[in-house]
Amino acid sequence: MALLTIEKISVFYGEMCALRDVSASVEEGEIVSIVGANGAGKSTLINTISGILKPKTGSISFAGEEISRLEAHQVVERGVIQVPEGRRLFPNMSVEENLLLGSYAPATRKNRAANLDKVFDLLPRLAERKKQIARTMSGGEQQMLAIGRALMSEPKLLMFDEPSLGLAPKLVTQVLELIQSIAAQGVTVLLVEQNVQNALELCHRGYVLENGTVGLTGPASELLNNPHIKKAYLGL
Ligand code: ATP
Repeated sequence: MALLTIEKISVFYGEMCALRDVSASVEEGEIVSIVGANGAGKSTLINTISGILKPKTGSISFAGEEISRLEAHQVVERGVIQVPEGRRLFPNMSVEENLLLGSYAPATRKNRAANLDKVFDLLPRLAERKKQIARTMSGGEQQMLAIGRALMSEPKLLMFDEPSLGLAPKLVTQVLELIQSIAAQGVTVLLVEQNVQNALELCHRGYVLENGTVGLTGPASELLNNPHIKKAYLGL
């Protein structure tokens, strides 16, 4: 059984249909990516899984439970955690305060100290800077902090919305390596990326969203060799 199953969901903004009959699944332990151009509906999909948006039709189940009618905080409590695009940190709070806010849910609150140690082990730079005010850090450090905060919520499924957006190439590599090591620790990953090459090199399987529908899907190696993808997304 898949950990996450999305079945024929349609999502609207008013009259505008942003996703139409989208189906996808993520198995436990997989890294799956959702790729596509600007405006294809990637953020809409992640926000619908997170419970921020509600599908008009279709269903989303996580670990066998229907979650598409739950509130966002209830989805978080089940271990479906989003690292949002643009970081959305608390800019005037310290690194440590931002991390602690990642474990507000009662179930994770009791493990706060242990989880903080784990995050500091994985991201030693955050440990060095725990008293630093978030807004004074570089873009790359802020992205690491956003990922650290998500880890404080004990994710079962961790969803990244454009984690490499606006980062210098060296930092992009660091963020992608970090995603890989998080996955290696047993966290299932759903990665949304406009950078199709990076995403497909990292993931096991991918879905290509085009104008709100799934155009192509398959193992990452197949998608990387697909002539349409090469031409439309990889500039080859
Ligand atoms: P990007 O990479 O630019 O974030 P995306 O693939 O994530 O693109 P979405 O942000 O999901 O795409 O947008 C899908 C479509 O829905 C676009 O046409 C967008 O203009 C529209 N849209 C997104 N958010 C809203 C909103 N709050 N109200 C109305 N339309 C929206």
